[in-house]
Amino acid sequence: MKLNHDSTTLEWQEKARQFAETELIPHEVEAEMNEGRLPDDVSRRHREMAIELGFSRMDVAPEYGGLGLRTVDQVAVWEQLGRVTNALCWCFAEPQAWMFEACSADQLERYVLPMMRGGRKECYAITESESGSDVVVETTARRDGDSYRLDGEKWFVTSANLADFLWVQAKLADGPHAGSDSLFLVDSDTPGIEVLRTPGFSHTFDHHHQEIRLDGVRVPGQNRVGAEGDGMAYSHSWFRRERLMIAARDCGAAARLIEEATEWARQREVAGEKLVDKQMVQAMLADSVTDWWASRLITFEAAEAHDRGEDVKSLHARCSIAKLYASEAAYRIADRAVQIFVGRG
Ligand SMILES: Cc1cc2nc3c(=O)[nH]c(=O)nc-3n(C[C@H](O)[C@H](O)[C@H](O)COP(=O)(O)OP(=O)(O)OC[C@H]3O[C@@H](n4cnc5c(N)ncnc54)[C@H](O)[C@@H]3O)c2cc1C
Repeated sequence: MKLNHDSTTLEWQEKARQFAETELIPHEVEAEMNEGRLPDDVSRRHREMAIELGFSRMDVAPEYGGLGLRTVDQVAVWEQLGRVTNALCWCFAEPQAWMFEACSADQLERYVLPMMRGGRKECYAITESESGSDVVVETTARRDGDSYRLDGEKWFVTSANLADFLWVQAKLADGPHAGSDSLFLVDSDTPGIEVLRTPGFSHTFDHHHQEIRLDGVRVPGQNRVGAEGDGMAYSHSWFRRERLMIAARDCGAAARLIEEATEWARQREVAGEKLVDKQMVQAMLADSVTDWWASRLITFEAAEAHDRGEDVKSLHARCSIAKLYASEAAYRIADRAVQIFVGRG
């Protein structure tokens, strides 16, 4: 399917497609058999290639050495990277545009720009045992001279096992903004950070979703992002970006599932007839293509709304709708693909 993309979008799509097909997909089985891990030299090559291709600087303005791509081009890239399983496409760190508005020059130099160059890796810690959809964090940040003391527990912190710093959302315990949220940049090796548990998930990723305790973690004041009380607004920017790019990857995953299931249905013969000639199998594939098509329309429209400069509330709704629809559609498509592959699925 071709949306109304111009040649720039199609070039980025092709670049990402080639990287996914020739570099990442050939390592999927190896990763699956090895708890998601690849040999260090292979991971390094993937990271270096992704950076060389420009994927780590897509959302960074040219004044910071980035490419400042339109959102629609970035979605085209993440869609193709979504064709790959085992999270092998997460081989590079990627600064997001909002970070350049939120962070000080010193924070950009020490944390954000090194991500773009391949020198640092992040994770984002918001969720807690009693804070999920409602995002009411209980982790506290208490002023102590020039620094803050963080105490609390964070859940499902994706990539915490690979990251060397965390964005931590905490509630201010005192001062004029007591009760509101702030965001902090915290080095992973700061004393007082402890991994409590690495829960099992149904996928095979090298990126784990850890539970982390912060016990009297001392963070210098210069690591607070923006003003006291601004933390939630930044996290909403992160949610928007993550939701949109998850939707993009869902579209890529859906396309791959449909292609694989169709290919198998063309080969497999049951009682002298190809699976693809059976009407029930055709119906499953047709429903899947319909789900996929709708997901792409919603996701690319949300991207184009960013590029048109729609207001932030409507963008927030669009990104949430795209993630909701595309992830549930990908789930339905995966279920049908398993029914077509059956034992082999
Ligand atoms: C793979 C994965 C990676 C993750 N990575 C991170 C990460 O990197 N950093 C991080 O901070 N967190 C992360 N999370 C956590 C994620 O953000 C939370 O799981 C999510 O916010 C939902 O919270 P919850 O799991 O507590 O579900 P709940 O909030 O308890 O929701 C349970 C159910 O209740 C429904 N529900 C909630 N509120 C309402 C309502 N008002 N009305 C009706 N129904 C409602 C929900 O739709 C859901 O079906 C990750 C989670 C997963 C699964």
